[in-house]
Amino acid sequence: MDKIKMTNPIVEMDGDEMTRVLWSLIKEELIEPFVELNTLYFDLGLKNRDETDDAVTTQAAEAIKEHHVGVKCATITPNAARQEEYNLKKLYKSPNGTIRAVLDGTVFRAPIIVKGIDPYVRSWKKPITIARHAYGDIYKAVEMEAGVGKVELVYTDPFGVEKRETVHELDAPGVVMGMHNMRPSIESFAKACFNYALSTHQDLWFATKDTISKIYDGKFKEVFNDVYEKLFKAEFEKAGIEYFYTLIDDAVARVMRSEGGFIWACKNYDGDVMSDMIASAFGSLSMMTSVLVSPEGNFEYEAAHGTVQRHYYKHLEGEETSTNPIATIFAWSGAFRKRGELDENKELMEFADKLEKACIDTIESGRMTKDLALITSLENPEVKNTQEFIKEIRKTLDGLI
Ligand code: NAP
Ligand code: MG
Repeated sequence: MDKIKMTNPIVEMDGDEMTRVLWSLIKEELIEPFVELNTLYFDLGLKNRDETDDAVTTQAAEAIKEHHVGVKCATITPNAARQEEYNLKKLYKSPNGTIRAVLDGTVFRAPIIVKGIDPYVRSWKKPITIARHAYGDIYKAVEMEAGVGKVELVYTDPFGVEKRETVHELDAPGVVMGMHNMRPSIESFAKACFNYALSTHQDLWFATKDTISKIYDGKFKEVFNDVYEKLFKAEFEKAGIEYFYTLIDDAVARVMRSEGGFIWACKNYDGDVMSDMIASAFGSLSMMTSVLVSPEGNFEYEAAHGTVQRHYYKHLEGEETSTNPIATIFAWSGAFRKRGELDENKELMEFADKLEKACIDTIESGRMTKDLALITSLENPEVKNTQEFIKEIRKTLDGLI
């Protein structure tokens, strides 16, 4: 068989620890035998980030801007312990934060569903994709402790005119917080969600607490509604999908009773909390995919989990590991499908489908990594180590191609 050709490159970002080990195994066993791989390779491993004073991360993000599709391995966000371990010049920022700052986008997370790994919520049949607004609110808030006295919000416009609102006349010591968001950020979040709903053909849900927060949350509701009416309503109707707004507590209740199969757009804090709930309720962090979608139509695919440090240390000591590569493989298949779509490369898109099917079929046949074997409803699962499991997927893939 001839290898599949790629017209335009994918921006490939290598990473750290156990996921770096997975990265090269996946390429060697599941990709390079089938695809004439055309990537722009950036090594985001912590050592190289340190050697380049983290310039490599920004270069990779700029490359995604130019070529529109990237795939990223999990990377270490250094803390003090890591600084010592890797003898770092300084504490670098989270690569994902740096990339997001360049691309400006929304992160969509969706679980991979397989038979035998059953969601804890019985009604869920299809994935629920969480879209989290990644700017502002309590994540950019200022807070203070205050004693007895008056707390005010003061806004000064560019001409020096002030607007004041009393927060509270404190008659006892307490705490106060001021937070903000900006219309363009909410707008680009809304556009990313509507676009992603169209491109994945799913309904979009959005919820806030606008009955209580009439101005702040009210603005979110208004912006979503404006963007929908002006830019997306006609397309949604044509596609036969729906935009649905409700209160956040009502949304939570409906999500629990739903079948899944929609995108749930969340304000920053709601997304932080709900994405962890959704991930664990669907079974496993190792089966969660993640894609950053920018307003200009750039896509960066990755697994939602980290570098699986504990497994890596075992691996370094020569012990056997059973690390689940599925979300990392789906990052590659997601990137291939998008590259194929943008380049009208049908073969590449079909390969993405087959690669995913090979993963799912292998698990459904009872061969899986330890994390899944612990939660599967299939009887007598065969636990495979990291290398064996990837070889099993290869066998299934060979049968599909
Ligand atoms: P983690 O790497 O996601 O791992 C947490 C635990 O979840 C693991 O110890 C493992 O449990 C289980 N797990 C996660 N992925 C798995 C997989 N593919 N197969 C099997 N089990 C899996 O999170 P962390 O330990 O908090 O973080 C480690 C490093 O990753 C940190 O340096 C952090 O900065 C980085 N990180 C990067 C990203 C990213 O690049 N997107 C995201 C999160 C964290 P058991 O040990 O019980 O088997
Ligand atoms: Mg969280």
